[in-house]
Amino acid sequence: MYRRQFLSLVGAAGVARALRGMPVPRIKDISVIATEPAGVRLTVVKIQTDQDGLYGYGCATFTQRADLVVQAVNAYLKPLLIGRPTDGIEDLWQAMYNSSYWRNGPVLNNAISGVDQALWDIKGRQAGMPVYELLGGKCRKGARIYSHASGREIPEVLDQARKLMSQGITAIRLQVGVPGMAAYGAGRAPSSVSPSQDEVFDPEPYVRRTLALFEAARKELGPEIDLLHDVHERLPPRMAVQFAKDMEQFRLFYLEDALSPENIDYFRQIRANCTTPLAMGELFNNPHEWEQVIESRLIDYIRVHVSQAGGLTPARKIAALAEAFQVKTAWHGPGDVSPVGHCANVTLDVACYNFGIQEWTFPNDHLLEVFEGYPVVKDGYAYVNEKPGWGVEINEKAAAKYPYGSEGAVRKQLNGGWGVVRRSDGTVINQ
Ligand code: MG
Repeated sequence: MYRRQFLSLVGAAGVARALRGMPVPRIKDISVIATEPAGVRLTVVKIQTDQDGLYGYGCATFTQRADLVVQAVNAYLKPLLIGRPTDGIEDLWQAMYNSSYWRNGPVLNNAISGVDQALWDIKGRQAGMPVYELLGGKCRKGARIYSHASGREIPEVLDQARKLMSQGITAIRLQVGVPGMAAYGAGRAPSSVSPSQDEVFDPEPYVRRTLALFEAARKELGPEIDLLHDVHERLPPRMAVQFAKDMEQFRLFYLEDALSPENIDYFRQIRANCTTPLAMGELFNNPHEWEQVIESRLIDYIRVHVSQAGGLTPARKIAALAEAFQVKTAWHGPGDVSPVGHCANVTLDVACYNFGIQEWTFPNDHLLEVFEGYPVVKDGYAYVNEKPGWGVEINEKAAAKYPYGSEGAVRKQLNGGWGVVRRSDGTVINQ
């Protein structure tokens, strides 16, 4: 029994006393909801407590290795946690984090996040409050979002951008295809030059094509719209420095993942050469990665994928660290974040002072059939729902209608994993 039920039984005046007198909930069961309603493998952890009707959900989505996260939760975290009290979230987070001895990998971090976010959900439901209230309340009414415009040809990208602008979106990420190549985020053209079956991408034509896209975009969309672009780590460091410099004239909101995590020290060279705002971090899962770029002021936006970093508990610490160095947050928010994860993102957005912008994915009907409570977007801002916890309910019967495996042929064959992208000479690249 939790607060809302108490409200109807004893009235508001008796609630605080009744809650203080209640026994601490204990973890009774942990299960994993594995579902793919929108063509992306989503993983959500559900924790049930020993108190009637008190449970919580947490996002544990690592779509390229989803089955391993499921196994990490079931085989390792569940035996560790069953019977433990739910109230000490930091304590349980540290217990999960340290119990594997070797740590900071994406599989384990996502598994931990699933439990961590479910514990925050439980605490919110107990309190009868949205999680943002537990973090101190809102410091803004909604989270400004950006959405994606992409296409194989430049006019197609600009048409999509215009459509988003007409819906009140004020920040848009632009990606365009490169003929004959697998450009990130803009459709994948079949390769004619590959020495194997794998996809091909060469950085030089990508750079020329993207500069042409932004030249056209500024000319046709005007100076006011905020524009973003994601390199997705595909450039060698020297080219990334030149590209950031060449993009400076288009006054981006930010340039994302200009370098791979292995090359983050090259941000110093980009900083020394231009003022293009920089965002980085969706692949980070180790504190040593975000600490360095934040404390050295090498980036403007930290883009950690919240579940990849281990959940809400470490993410709010990252936000606090970043605030001290004038780095803003831009939590990763594409389709491979579950609706529970999107709620966690927007919760942080409205509660943390140094929020920058929120990447946004609009849900399809299947997703809304499974997940109730997806944040609502109005006039370019996302609003978290006001129900207790994350405010998300999952229709598990509907979730079961969409098992893993609805992707296209290659990803299905790779069990949801990504394949390989190579340069024309056959070298495998970061993708
Ligand atoms: Mg990205």
